[in-house]
Order: sequence, then C-alpha cells, then structure tokens
Amino acid sequence: MIIPFNIESGGFRETILSALKEHESLASNSGPISIDLGAEASGYSGKVRVAIQSAADEGFSVVSGWSGKDPTRFPARIRAAATSIKDIGHEGEYFIHHDDGVIKIQKVSGKPNPVIFGEVPGVKSGDTFPDRQAMHDANVHRGIVQGIAAEGSAIVLNEGYVDDEDNGDIIIYTGQGGQDSKNVQVADQELRAGNKFLARNYAEGIPVRVSRGPKLKSPYAPKKGYQYGGLYRIDHYWSDIGVHGFAIYRYRLIRIASQESVPVPAAGDSPARPLPQGNQTPDRVTTTTQRVVRSTRIGKAIKKLYDYTCQVCGTRLEIHSGAYAECCHIKPLGKPHNGPDVMENVLCLCPNCHVLFDHHVITLEDDLSIPQRGTKLNVAATHKLDLGHIRYHRDRVQAS
Ligand SMILES: [Zn+2]
Repeated sequence: MIIPFNIESGGFRETILSALKEHESLASNSGPISIDLGAEASGYSGKVRVAIQSAADEGFSVVSGWSGKDPTRFPARIRAAATSIKDIGHEGEYFIHHDDGVIKIQKVSGKPNPVIFGEVPGVKSGDTFPDRQAMHDANVHRGIVQGIAAEGSAIVLNEGYVDDEDNGDIIIYTGQGGQDSKNVQVADQELRAGNKFLARNYAEGIPVRVSRGPKLKSPYAPKKGYQYGGLYRIDHYWSDIGVHGFAIYRYRLIRIASQESVPVPAAGDSPARPLPQGNQTPDRVTTTTQRVVRSTRIGKAIKKLYDYTCQVCGTRLEIHSGAYAECCHIKPLGKPHNGPDVMENVLCLCPNCHVLFDHHVITLEDDLSIPQRGTKLNVAATHKLDLGHIRYHRDRVQAS
C-alpha cells in the first residue's frame, strides 16, 4: 500500500527533520537513530518497514508491520518520519519504530544508494531546473532540503548564510548547522555531517557540484529556479567567526578549469526543465572529470582495504575529517603510460611515500621488496598486484 507523504510541514515532521539533519549515519547501516518527540506524543506503538523509492513519488510503500486498509489511518509519527527521510534525500528501505514518544529509524541492510561524485552524465553547466525536486530527480543535488548533498557531492548556494560570497569562479561557502528556523546563526557550527564531508573532499581532491538558487545575492544567481554551475574543487577550509558572532566553517571553492565559463543567467530568464543531453560525443572535459570519478571509487576501495595505512612505511595519518591516505597508481594514468585504474595497479600510501614512489626514489622488486628501504611492501592477502605494472614502474627508472 502507498501512504502519501505529509503535505503540511510542522509538528512531528519538523522535529524529526531537524534531528535527521544532524545525523550523517542515516544512509549507512550503523545503528538506529533515536528521536524523542516529547511526552505528549503517545499513540501507536510498533515497528513498520517502509520503502522510499523516489522523492518524486506521491508517497512511500509499507513493506511490513502495518496491515491497515485505509491510508489515512496510518500512524502519523511514522508517516512524518518517512517524509523526513525523503526530505533529506535518502531512499531505500527503513525500519521506523515508535514507542512511547520515541522514534527510532534504521536503514534496512543492503546496498546503500550510490552517490555520484563529479559530473552527472547528461547534465552540463548552465542547465536550469524549476525547483529542488527537479535537481534531485536529475541527480545534480540529491535531497530537497539540505544545502550540502549526500557525502558533500554537491552544494546549493541560495538563502541561508549571510557569510557566503560568490565571485563566479571562486566561492566562499559557509558550512551547515547552528541556525534557527529564520536562518539566524544561534550556535557554533561543528565539523560533522556535511561540513566533515566537504573537509574530506578537500583532503582527497574530490570535486563538488555547485548550483545556485534564486535567493542568492550574486550576479550569477538565476532569477527563478536553480542553475547548475559546474564542478569546483575545495581549495581550502577553515573555521571563522561569522557575522552573528558564532563559529562557522568556511570553504573556498575554485571552479575546475577547462569547463565553459560560469553561466550568467539572462535577464528575465525562465528556467525550463532541461531535456536529457546524452553523451554521444564526450569531450575532453567529460573524460577528465569522469576519470576523477572512477579513480575515486578505486581510491576509496584501496584505502579502505588498508585502513588508510601506508603499505610502505606503516604510517596512518588522522586529520580532522578522518583518516588520510593517498591512492598511488603503479603504472601512471594518462598518456603516455595509460596505466589502468584497477586494484591490481594501485597502492595505499602516505603522502611522503607517494611522492617518493612517483619520483622513483623507491621501487618494487618482483618479490615486492623495496631495495632502497631493506623492507617489503605490506600487501593484503586479497590484494593481487600486477607484476607487469610493477616492472613498468621499475624499468622506467633504469632506463632514465
Ligand atoms: Zn609511507
């Protein structure tokens, strides 16, 4: 049965939504999130499994736990929770449990929703969208509430932060949190949730999609609707005291070169829903940015496999956004080497060892020993390395 999402906001939905905004673990399968709705919220107790397919749908479906025939009789608190999950851009199946005024939400184990980093196929800089829902549906910015999309893959500049600055190619963006419902900063921001993901993207060089909304005070803001402005890299981030006197996180974003210039909306332009562009003749820009996306996936896997520990020297770095390591390609990517972006061709290294390896100060023998160090590369049992790539790297040294 399909239960319609809440149309009206406020009440339980507002309480649940603001609690969910503070949680970064909802998309993963880490433990349940508990939200106290207050003493007056008695009523239906039980656990319902719901499936949220798309924010574009009219409602969510009940998988199990409720067998009523009349959707209007569906428990209001669970309905509010399902609507809030949709509002922050999550999809999939969730257990929603209500007991004595406390809502517990847990994602049902399974494949998490894939988050797209970098370019979205078929979407180009300058494309316009009538509203947040349309941007969500086009995968430009998942979620219709948050300024920072899942895992920091995208941001929207719109109303919200008086500290934001938009100079087109360079943006100073304010992190999230600490605001009341009138967008006044009333508390310090913390390096968590979206703020922490943006810091991670800075550390790992992951690009961020930037869109602009109609309430942004900038010559690059659209008059109506939203406009996608291209890929930016995070150049720097720091904490600062905002104009309201509270600590905020600020991010300096620089537009990645080799894209068309920042779109300037025409006066009185009325954005229409864009037609899918397809990708029949991918240009150089597409190739470059999609390579970043691919290497991100392999890079994540290799770092996870070694828990961010350097395979050469055993160093494990911790920075504020989490552990930090680099993905090193044994046979380099790109011309003239054209090494593949696969697990057999990558190492998890600390930045020092990465530089030393790239500059051939350290090399690998066939038995994976490191002659310059008198040690051996640490290799996980499941990590198969390609001897051809190792020889390519080593022999290039001997030839030079
Ligand atoms: Zn190292």
